[in-house]
Amino acid sequence: MSAENTHLVKGATGEWEVVIGLEVHAQVTSNSKLFSGASAEYGGEPNDHVSLVDAAMPGMLPVINRECVDQAIRTGLGLKAEINLFSRFDRKNYFYPDLPQGYQISQFQYPIVGEGTVILDMKDGSTFEVGIERLHLEQDAGKSMHDQHPSYSYVDFNRTGVALMEIVSKPDMRTSEQARAYVTKLRTILRYLGTCDGNMDEGSMRADVNVSVRRPGEELGTRTETKNVNSIRFIGQTIDYEVGRQIDVLEDGGTIDQETRLFDPKSGVTKSMRSKEEAHDYRYFPCPDLLPLKVTQDHVDELAKHLPELPDEKKDRLIREYGLNSYDAGILVSDRASSDFFEAVAKGRDAKLASNWVTNDFFGRLKKEGKDISESPISADQLGGVIDLISKGDISGKIAKDLFEIVWEEGGDPAEIVEARGMKQVTDTGAIEAIVDQIIANNPDQVAGVKEKPQLIGWFVGQVMKESKGKANPQAVNEILKEKLGL
Ligand code: ADP
Ligand code: MG
Repeated sequence: MSAENTHLVKGATGEWEVVIGLEVHAQVTSNSKLFSGASAEYGGEPNDHVSLVDAAMPGMLPVINRECVDQAIRTGLGLKAEINLFSRFDRKNYFYPDLPQGYQISQFQYPIVGEGTVILDMKDGSTFEVGIERLHLEQDAGKSMHDQHPSYSYVDFNRTGVALMEIVSKPDMRTSEQARAYVTKLRTILRYLGTCDGNMDEGSMRADVNVSVRRPGEELGTRTETKNVNSIRFIGQTIDYEVGRQIDVLEDGGTIDQETRLFDPKSGVTKSMRSKEEAHDYRYFPCPDLLPLKVTQDHVDELAKHLPELPDEKKDRLIREYGLNSYDAGILVSDRASSDFFEAVAKGRDAKLASNWVTNDFFGRLKKEGKDISESPISADQLGGVIDLISKGDISGKIAKDLFEIVWEEGGDPAEIVEARGMKQVTDTGAIEAIVDQIIANNPDQVAGVKEKPQLIGWFVGQVMKESKGKANPQAVNEILKEKLGL
């Protein structure tokens, strides 16, 4: 990799290269759990969504949820990954109060999805590829609650048995910025596919963050794994903190322990949770309650046929069809609602104008009010109406901003508002001439000045626009001024 040595970190004793690999747990969007018919919905009263299978009552048998398997395959296809027609479920054994079975059913040796790729669009316009090692299906655990009773802990099994996809990246990332871009892009892809809602604050997506450092060109260093980091910002902070800490330890002559750590959002630091010596031996073995999972290539092809257009393809199409630049297109495809909104506005209109209005004015206004696109008081049709009035020359860009504000605040049809409130641009040359004559008559000094320095015409344009309350057509104003001032 040629880019490998471009992101080095300076330590006290020389330069270091950072190596990052992420294991992302993404909750599968499905009505019911991976091996039971209980609801997989978020929330509910504690233990509302628990079947006898989830509670691991004796004699209960898991039954694979076909939809969860299809969701994993769709995700694999979206990650341009190899789909394994043969995969197998294994038991990962450990004791924990929130795990009633005493083991988690997961896929260890034979995951359903193999190697794939995610392409990142970096801020500087470059792209960066991150390899996917594998994706496997597994059950989520429940939740222990230690703050409900003075002397007891409670458990909530609602999440127990909900399907998770564990998406494991290769150790390809070199900066926290790349790691943040990776999780952002992964979330976008999952949301487009409809295979995970990506709501990190509800725990639908969380990452185990593996970080190590090494001298450029050397073997991989020992990594630490910070568990269950649940926001993109925290992932970045975890990496930055670990890089600093590991370099300090190594430069002081110490060694890095391969250990599990936890990130504390309050202090922004990671703390040791358990070291390799205390690591679990999970004693994986094939789950005897489940047959190996076999899917046919026909089935995979059928799912591939119905895959939605994904962000990378959509971006290429927006560039091709609407002549957008890569940066604008990248912003628009970052979520499906934004690009749908843009396309609804841009259809049959000036695409550059549409993308400016959508990415600057519209997104800017949403952001100012902390609103999501689904909460926008202005529809694509209404914004399109504003743009139509600009294109027809009925209103100037400046008046359009006022109009946008009115439509945003009060609603209504832009063309009717312009008509009713007399906001139409004055292209009537007679009216503009009258204003120009008056300004020339009242400002003899400026008139003398502009003959010397023609660029002073800007001052006159400003005066006319002010006098006409922004409604004069700027092109007409320029022409009339030039003629009357003899420029
Ligand atoms: P495990 O299953 O024990 O956690 P894996 O080999 O599957 O181990 O690796 C888990 C994650 O750690 C992967 O995302 C991988 O890219 C990353 N990783 C492996 N080695 C390193 C390393 N030396 N530095 C940083 N990340 C690493
Ligand atoms: Mg791991």
